[in-house]
Amino acid sequence: MNSKEKILEVIYEKYNEYTKKENFFCYKGCSLCCTQNVVISEVEGDVIYNFIIKNQEVSWLAEKLMAKKQAKPLSLTTNGFARKCLEQTADEEENDEALVYGKCPFLDKSICTIYPVRPFSCRSFYSQENCAKHNTAIINEEHLVINTVTQQIIEHLSQNGYWGIMLDVLLAMIEKKENGEKIKQLIPREIVKKAQKDILIAEPIPGFLLKPEETECVFNFLQTIMVEKIGPRTIEEILNCKQTE
Ligand code: SF4
Repeated sequence: MNSKEKILEVIYEKYNEYTKKENFFCYKGCSLCCTQNVVISEVEGDVIYNFIIKNQEVSWLAEKLMAKKQAKPLSLTTNGFARKCLEQTADEEENDEALVYGKCPFLDKSICTIYPVRPFSCRSFYSQENCAKHNTAIINEEHLVINTVTQQIIEHLSQNGYWGIMLDVLLAMIEKKENGEKIKQLIPREIVKKAQKDILIAEPIPGFLLKPEETECVFNFLQTIMVEKIGPRTIEEILNCKQTE
């Protein structure tokens, strides 16, 4: 595990601790939020790849990636949108969700087959009430802010790497992977090229978009992550350097 992956593990752990204090309606086997709209940063893609390559055949992964439905490409990353807001050049439409309406191919009989390494987007899909009844997740404002801030940190950790719809990022990463050759033989090249065209490049954090009353809870949550050490340095020290690995 490299240092980026170790930091990601700490972020997941601290987020898990944060969410424990809340009550959610969510239960094992409910997969209403498991669509192909999940976005990831490259570091999350690395962790997913490592898990799949250890536990599954390459053909299994190829089959899942080939199940990708056509999506409207995203125009900004989370940090890209924050940057534009801070520059006051953001256009509401630029932060539109990708329009994909397929079930996530990693779902099998309503259970996630990559659950231990599911990306942050999936970890943050929570609802305090029945989504089916409300047609949307119900979540408090503080939790939403923590979700966005955490997404921003994970993107920062992946800066200059790929960012986008999970299946696009995984497809695009094939060429960087040791066993990419094997998978490439199973996936038409134009599908990989299209995914590479549709993804974005992860950006560093330009700042957080917080209301004054949100600052304290975000600071307290961030502190739980930043003080942790990976080797001799704290995560804060590592993230403040341009090179994380
Ligand atoms: S990766 Fe797992 S948790 Fe995330 S959307 Fe797919 S099936 Fe659901």
